[in-house]
Formats: sequence, C-alpha cells, structure tokens
Amino acid sequence: MTTIRAVTWDAAGTLIRVAGSVGLHYATRAAAHGLRAEPGALDAAFPGAFQAAVAAWAVPYGRDEVDARAFWARVVAATFAPLVVPAALQRDLFDHFARPASWEVLPGVHAAVAAVAARGLPQAVVSNFDGRLAPLLDGLGLGPFATVVTSAQVGAAKPDPAPLVAAARALGVPPMALLHVGDSRREDGGAAAAAGVRWLEVDAAIDPAVVLAAVDGGRNG
Ligand SMILES: [Mg+2]
Repeated sequence: MTTIRAVTWDAAGTLIRVAGSVGLHYATRAAAHGLRAEPGALDAAFPGAFQAAVAAWAVPYGRDEVDARAFWARVVAATFAPLVVPAALQRDLFDHFARPASWEVLPGVHAAVAAVAARGLPQAVVSNFDGRLAPLLDGLGLGPFATVVTSAQVGAAKPDPAPLVAAARALGVPPMALLHVGDSRREDGGAAAAAGVRWLEVDAAIDPAVVLAAVDGGRNG
C-alpha cells in the first residue's frame, strides 16, 4: 500500500458537533424572535427535514455561499413547520452556527490532530460546509490545517470526490497518499472510495492511536 503523506478530516460528527442539541439552539433563538417552539419537537423534526433538503438539493449544503444560506433556510423552515420562520430568525440561526460557542470539539480530537502533526504530516479539513467553517475551527482552537476545503467552495459535496481531490491537490500529494477521517459512511466513505483515498471511519470520538495506526498501516502495508 502507498505511504500515507497527509491526513484530511471531516468536520461535523468527526472534529466537532453542535453543543447540546440542534433543537435547543433553534428554540432559544426562536424565542428571541417571539416564536415559541419545543426543543424536543424540533430535535425530532430536524433529521427528516435535513435529509429531505439533502435529497432535494442539486448540490447539498449549497453550491456556493448564497445557495448554502438557501439550503439551511429550507432545513430550518421544514424543522419548524407548520410554524413560519421569519427571515430575521433565518439570518440569526445561520450566524449563530458560525459561533464557536454553538459547537464543541469531540473527545480525542485535539490529541489526534497533535499526534498527526507530531509525525510531520500536513492536515486539512474536507467538509460539506460553507465559509463559516474555517473561522469556526480557528475559534475552537483546532489545527493547524494547511487548508480547509468546503463543499460550497468547490461547488460539490461529498460523496462527490471533488472536495477530497481539491484537498489532495492543495496538500501536494496524490489521493492514494491521503488518509481521510470521517464519520459518514455515505459522504466520507463514498467520497474516499470515488477519489481513491483511504478512509478511516470514526464515531463521535477519536482515538489518536487508531489514527496513527491507520497512518502507519499505509506506511508499512
Ligand atoms: Mg460528518
């Protein structure tokens, strides 16, 4: 097997997650706009609303920054339905999730990123996200990353291989020398398979030793 020369990380569900619950954030911001909604009901509605938007969108998560706002507005509207979401609340929520305080770093992530950096391997983030991501990761003290590649920037979302291919190019390594760490079988596993990149599946916590073993597996195998 080819030596692993760089590591890419998915963001949501791999490096970070929403602090508390999405419904709690939605309900709290809605209350500030005079809209009353139960966090539990919003949490129950969110997954279906999100999956429906992903299925309906030409480029899920938005083909560019403007489209990213429209994508999330659709998710929010469907989550609150039949309540009608005012435009000001839509803008508020989009900005709200740009703030580090709305997110938390998953267990083991800081140690794993540091361990990969100690091996001298460059790292990047490859995420179905938009321009909010790079400052968000900075604010959470994550990195250093050589680059942060988002679907909105590339105009294609994982499982399309384009974001991973763009990251490999930016890192100056062939896709086969890349290890991508991500939590989604469909998005991360699919994109990695399509790009010819090695994929390490993780689930809501990172064990630095497992990441290093995957790096070394590529090195020695
Ligand atoms: Mg993810």
